[in-house]
Amino acid sequence: MDVRENKKTVWETNGPLETSRLAYCLGQQAQPGQVYGLDGDLGAGKTVFAQGFASGLGIEGPVNSPTFTIMQQYEDGRLPLYHFDVYRIGSLEEMEEVGYEDCFYGDGVCLVEWSDLIEGLLPKEAVRIRIEKDLSRGFDYRRILVGPCR
Ligand code: ADP
Ligand code: MG
Repeated sequence: MDVRENKKTVWETNGPLETSRLAYCLGQQAQPGQVYGLDGDLGAGKTVFAQGFASGLGIEGPVNSPTFTIMQQYEDGRLPLYHFDVYRIGSLEEMEEVGYEDCFYGDGVCLVEWSDLIEGLLPKEAVRIRIEKDLSRGFDYRRILVGPCR
């Protein structure tokens, strides 16, 4: 189910499989040069989403959060995937050290977990994905907002 709200699309899922399926479809539709910012609290479902997204790009191996490397690159899909997890980033210089500009402005697809932390570096065309819980709707309920930065 989705409804339009300020150009953001709101999806609702009721389990990891549904979130993964939504992410798979978005991965299938991803275009070269796109940057996706992925935000949500711990346990919201960012890794579930990232795995589905990578799978939709045709990437076969497991996709884990690259917490200790900031960026993990996958080359076996339809397009290169640059998977960032900037949760533990200490300074924006670390982004430069991993060469984020070549990724953000290249021909692959970037998926950036905790993108709020590097908001200023995101291209203004970035697609923002926010996963929210709402315990009043049940433990497995997630609201997933997909849309432009502003
Ligand atoms: P994050 O990477 O955001 O910290 P994870 O993806 O590692 O979160 O974990 C999400 C957890 O929530 C998983 O254990 C998953 O099974 C569970 N879960 C329950 N309902 C959902 C849902 N609708 N969408 C995604 N994950 C869900
Ligand atoms: Mg995670």
